Amino acid sequence: MVPPRTPSFRATHSGRCDRPPGRLSRPPARSRLGSSPWSGLSSASVLKAVLFDVDFTLFRPGPELGPEGYRRLGERHGLTLDPDLYAQARIGAIETLSRERELVHDDDVWIAFTEQIVRGMGGDAEGARACATEMVREWERHENFTLYEDALPTLDELRRHDLRIGLVTNGQRDLEEFVVHHGLEVDAMVGSRAHGRIKPHPSIFVAALQALGVAADETAMVGDSYEDDIEGARSLGIRAILLDRDGLRPDEPERIDTLLALPAALGLARG
Ligand SMILES: [Mg+2]
Repeated sequence: MVPPRTPSFRATHSGRCDRPPGRLSRPPARSRLGSSPWSGLSSASVLKAVLFDVDFTLFRPGPELGPEGYRRLGERHGLTLDPDLYAQARIGAIETLSRERELVHDDDVWIAFTEQIVRGMGGDAEGARACATEMVREWERHENFTLYEDALPTLDELRRHDLRIGLVTNGQRDLEEFVVHHGLEVDAMVGSRAHGRIKPHPSIFVAALQALGVAADETAMVGDSYEDDIEGARSLGIRAILLDRDGLRPDEPERIDTLLALPAALGLARG
């Protein structure tokens, strides 16, 4: 589904992966700079690194992971799943998780989350658990993801400015293999499976900062999840920029709708 790119793996640390539930319970969000939306970088700080979320930020999950993918997978398990019910089923699953889940990585939780989606799409029968387990495995398949068109040009531009690049991601995939598969160059990566905690838990961001050898106020975080990526990073004083590809949060002061806008948002000179 995704043509592998030439491996040029430069980095790294721990990890594995990102994805389903957007967020769950979270630590209190707090900006080190008080009410300033431009939290994180103080005037004395020099930007040294940028952390990226993976799914829906640098990488687009493919159709096998969406409504039609559920429908097809359901057929193999004797279930009739209605793609039109996917969005609502996923919202319901996220709400359940946010009530019940600690910010600890747990493979069974991903399966339970996915099973609730399966059942919400009409697969409320024997086979739902097996279907969910197989769907979770699909999220571990590197070829089910493609880089967004704006990802590599942006990463190249950041490198031109000598910025270090890290990944911070929730999920089950083998992150190191994933990075090699897609030929991505990163300096560090922290995935929740290897780390043991999920975003927005502060420790996963701290692990990324340590892996890169930078301080919170020398770092910016970019991601599509307000709760996981933005609030999680800001709770540590990391400047966070929301990638709002679908324009869902127009009131967020620190937002971009394409990664191509990131260098300017970070105040990097064009050249
Ligand atoms: Mg994401």
